[in-house]
Amino acid sequence: MNDRELTGQARTHIAAVADPPCLLHAHVVAPFLNLRRAAQAEGIDLQAMSSFRDFARQLAIWNGKFSGERPMLDASGLKLDAASLTPRERIDAILLWSALPGASRHHWGTDLDLVDRQLSETGYQIKLTREEFATGGPLAHLDLWLDANAPRFGFFRPFQGVRSGVQPEPWHFSFAPIAEKARQRLSPRVLRTAIAGAPLLGKEVVLAHLDELHARYVAAIDLP
Ligand SMILES: [Zn+2]
Repeated sequence: MNDRELTGQARTHIAAVADPPCLLHAHVVAPFLNLRRAAQAEGIDLQAMSSFRDFARQLAIWNGKFSGERPMLDASGLKLDAASLTPRERIDAILLWSALPGASRHHWGTDLDLVDRQLSETGYQIKLTREEFATGGPLAHLDLWLDANAPRFGFFRPFQGVRSGVQPEPWHFSFAPIAEKARQRLSPRVLRTAIAGAPLLGKEVVLAHLDELHARYVAAIDLP
């Protein structure tokens, strides 16, 4: 991946999959479809709620939260009032749940938010919460199946709340062989170039602390 692909500003590395609908790095399509086939054999309709996401989309999420137009949550999932927080406090709160534009692993096409679509057929609206994936939750069976099977297809969970500054996301899986190379290439310098030219709210504070934010939210992940 080149710098523009790494930061979601180009999609030349991305292929569109029709069934199930998702956008993935061209070399992640086959591994994902193999994982899906194995899940299907166990009665699981494995699909991505989110796959590739570009810089513009991540920027809209970021600016929406920073401005208070989108809900901003604390670590326990309670709503925060953006207006009462300093720019630095807003940045730290957003980064618990959302990546900096240019630094989302979804830019790479290697990462997916996985669900069992069969659950939607019962009329249930999947929210992607930890409770859904926990014991007794409606996606607990998926959680266990992925624990046991995702690694043999090359997929792992980068956000487990151990090393990463991001909150645990049991639904977020990453194709290690390609994602690890991307993580190592996405340096603070590459990220700075992507952000410097963008209409990002809180940009001065982000750029002033970029090395620290990169270390906590990009470099530090829970390794495969
Ligand atoms: Zn995700």
